[in-house]
Amino acid sequence: MIKVAKFGGSSVADSEQFKKVKNIVLSDPMRKFVVVSASGKRGKNENKITDLLYLCHAHIMYSVSCESVWQLIEERFITIKNELNLIYPIEEDLAKIKSELKKGISEDYLVSRGEYLTARLMAEYLGYEFIDASEVIIFDYSGKIDFDRSYEALHAVLKGNDKVVVPGFYGALPNGEIKTLTRGGSDITGAILAKLVNASLYENWTDVSGILIADPRIVSNPRQIKYITYEELRELSYMGANVLHEEAIFPVMEANIPLHILNTNNPSDEGTIIVENNEDEQITVTGIAGKRDFSVITIYKKHMSDEVGIIRKALSVMEKYNVSIEHMPSGIDSFSIVVETAQIKNAKYDIVVDIKEATNADSVKVIDDIALIATVGRNMANCPGISGRLFQTLGKNDINIRMIAQGSDEITIIIGVENKDFENSIRAIYEEFVN
Ligand code: ADP
Ligand code: ASP
Ligand code: MG
Repeated sequence: MIKVAKFGGSSVADSEQFKKVKNIVLSDPMRKFVVVSASGKRGKNENKITDLLYLCHAHIMYSVSCESVWQLIEERFITIKNELNLIYPIEEDLAKIKSELKKGISEDYLVSRGEYLTARLMAEYLGYEFIDASEVIIFDYSGKIDFDRSYEALHAVLKGNDKVVVPGFYGALPNGEIKTLTRGGSDITGAILAKLVNASLYENWTDVSGILIADPRIVSNPRQIKYITYEELRELSYMGANVLHEEAIFPVMEANIPLHILNTNNPSDEGTIIVENNEDEQITVTGIAGKRDFSVITIYKKHMSDEVGIIRKALSVMEKYNVSIEHMPSGIDSFSIVVETAQIKNAKYDIVVDIKEATNADSVKVIDDIALIATVGRNMANCPGISGRLFQTLGKNDINIRMIAQGSDEITIIIGVENKDFENSIRAIYEEFVN
């Protein structure tokens, strides 16, 4: 049996955290594959190594010296090395990267060094083999992970070695060039590895004891989710519950590998288990999440329901402006297109004019400052009256609902409210369904 254990930035922030990781890894011989993020924040006011590396690159782009930022990075790594009495000559690697800074270093390569150096230190500290992600996480040229090539590459370098540390967050293109994933991407590396080695469990170790029903910055002391399905978690993480990268769910879901979110600082806490299904638990709402700053473009035209192709015409305008669409609620003589405000910011009026022209609409209106809130629960589909209760609760709290959408599988109800009502709405929904 194999477990893949991924440790996030805060879990490897300093030598004390490294010790916790070692205790966790060595306490279970099944924890054979370890993935690490770059060293993260030690406290609220400190920076993540990854952010410092991005900052370094930005300095270089503007031809400003990044010496002081680089010093901070070096100091963080060398302190960990010295405090743990490691022999890996990290100073040499740091000097090499520093010399490359002056020679047009690529952003992806520079930023990936955070994970690379953290993993080198961790491998020695655990007594595990280091395997570079650039050798085993292979992308195709479109940027998608190539599972077949990665599988072959991994099994070729493993050569029977079954205790390894792999840096998260990056891999290589077919020509060997380093490519990073999106921010928070070490979660994805762990999920890919779990699939490649056919792990029986993917453990994601972080700084909270699992996924909470709602963001703790909005609801005080929210309850923790014990079990959640892949689909539910995908909905919640897409809508802003950022405990796990939303893309990390696919590889483990496809391979049916359970995922366990655990706390490095409290390893005996139960955590949250993500599985295909759990029919035992009869809770209605599994989680609530949301995001601010959306715009709703509404197209009105009389007798629209008799007209063929009108939606396509409006959508082709969105395509022309390269805007991706979140939701499309529709009425009889109108339909709406919900998008992130940032995506239409520079072309709002052009888009309205083009849609009007393309659809021959009576009017096209845009409202901004909309927040979307997703109430997610696998049992909601079998439970009549949930939407009614949801709307009533918001009404009782004087919150005006500006838009309603529901996924076809009925595990999510999405409402749009004004940005100013965002937090109150989440609290009201939590009170109604959870407390
Ligand atoms: P890591 O560095 O280990 O990858 P992250 O910072 O990416 O950790 O994710 C953990 C953080 O996610 C928590 O510290 C918490 O602030 C945040 N978070 C956001 N929404 C939730 C939620 N619903 N439940 C738990 N944590 C949440
Ligand atoms: N270090 C990267 C980031 O900060 C990746 C990760 O932490 O998962 O985004
Ligand atoms: Mg993360």
